[in-house]
Amino acid sequence: MLDKLSSTLKKVTDKIANAIFLDKTLVESVVKDLQRALIEADVNVSLVLELTKKIKQSALNERISGLEKKEHIIKLLHDELIKLLGQSRKIKLEKQNVFLMLGLYGQGKTTTISKLASYYGKRGHRVCAICLDVYRPAAAEQLKQLCDKQNIPAFISPEEKDPKKIWKKYEQEMKNYNLILVDTAGRDSLSEDLIKEIKDISKLAKPTETLLVMSADIGQTAKKQAQTFKEAVNISGVIITKMDSTAKGGGALTACAEVKAPVIFIGTGEKPADLETFDPESFLSRMLGMGDLKSLMEKIQSVVSEKDIEATQARLAEGKFTLKDFQAQLESMDSIGGMDKIMSMIPGLGKAKVPEQALETQQEKAKHWKHAINSMTLEEQENPEILEKETSRIQRISKGCGTTTSEIRAMLKQYKMLKEMIKSQSSLTSGNMDQKTIMKLAKKFGRKMKF
Ligand code: GDP
Ligand code: MG
Repeated sequence: MLDKLSSTLKKVTDKIANAIFLDKTLVESVVKDLQRALIEADVNVSLVLELTKKIKQSALNERISGLEKKEHIIKLLHDELIKLLGQSRKIKLEKQNVFLMLGLYGQGKTTTISKLASYYGKRGHRVCAICLDVYRPAAAEQLKQLCDKQNIPAFISPEEKDPKKIWKKYEQEMKNYNLILVDTAGRDSLSEDLIKEIKDISKLAKPTETLLVMSADIGQTAKKQAQTFKEAVNISGVIITKMDSTAKGGGALTACAEVKAPVIFIGTGEKPADLETFDPESFLSRMLGMGDLKSLMEKIQSVVSEKDIEATQARLAEGKFTLKDFQAQLESMDSIGGMDKIMSMIPGLGKAKVPEQALETQQEKAKHWKHAINSMTLEEQENPEILEKETSRIQRISKGCGTTTSEIRAMLKQYKMLKEMIKSQSSLTSGNMDQKTIMKLAKKFGRKMKF
């Protein structure tokens, strides 16, 4: 069911999440993939263009920076797709329920009745079905056979040519059931006489739900069909069948959303069990691979709390970066696992790469560095320059924390380098540097970072 679209959506979100920089080439390739997959799934071209335009705009918006941008785009993609799928509506059963099933020939009304009988029967309701399709001689027999298999009573009168009379004949008996599924006749199109017939039946049966059944393979045509049925007989919801056997399901689903006809169930096969409730949010989650999406969001947000990130970024933006900040970075590095992550937290720098082997020894060093910083006075932490002026301070700290003086010096060097990097960063945030320069800078620091 829409497998191809699903795999493209997964690929696209991965591409965004793993990108070092969301540059123009990447954004354009992502947008192209999206367009192709959505159009192949039969989603209306102008809707597709509208969606991808929004994605492109926000991806290339200079004002949103690295980390938030990825998150922002994935969320935007998710929200726009939800919009395409429309509002969800769940049927709430009353004490007595009558579902009137409508639709053109061969859309799946009768089959869907057997599915609904199974669905509600399993949930403890007393279900029966009645055949008011008086045009096709085999219609009554088809319904009866399907219902017999599930021990659901089917009320039929194959000889009777007036649907109203059939209803009246069984009306009393059907009061024993709390859900009556009414099968009706279709036509090739919504003709005047079909509208009249539906209205007549509707007056008698007083349906609690009037459900339009449409096959997914009609694609975008579903828009016009849903619209005309809605205007003529006021449908309360739609059931899209045959989602299993066509790639056009995207067209049918989004077309219903466009005319605000809520899709309530989808049919995914011919058997009674092949029915699913349709909820845009969970449907999309499955398409995107919700596990993936969730972990992706988590990955992107990283382990550090948002408040911490905001506070650090605010200090960085002011160009302030003390040894305490450096220590906080080291701590978060422990839980996230790498200098590259820290760099990805710095707006604009994205995910610059640090050599793999450096990361292993880094953890050990970081531990020593943290102890050293703890052994400093507040003054030293805030103004590390005084350590260079008065080297006796370094000796004192070294004794206090059991870290060698050369280790402490290396740490100070590292701190200075990071600070320098952050300084050049302030020209990034003011937007003076293009992506190429940023890339170069990141590479340079990536190489320089030795632990
Ligand atoms: P009706 O004329 O609207 O009552 O349509 P039917 O219920 O007779 O269905 C027409 C054909 O579509 C039958 O061959 C069904 O088996 C088939 N069909 C209905 N729903 C589904 C579905 O969800 N998946 C598939 N693959 N076939 C379906
Ligand atoms: Mg039928």
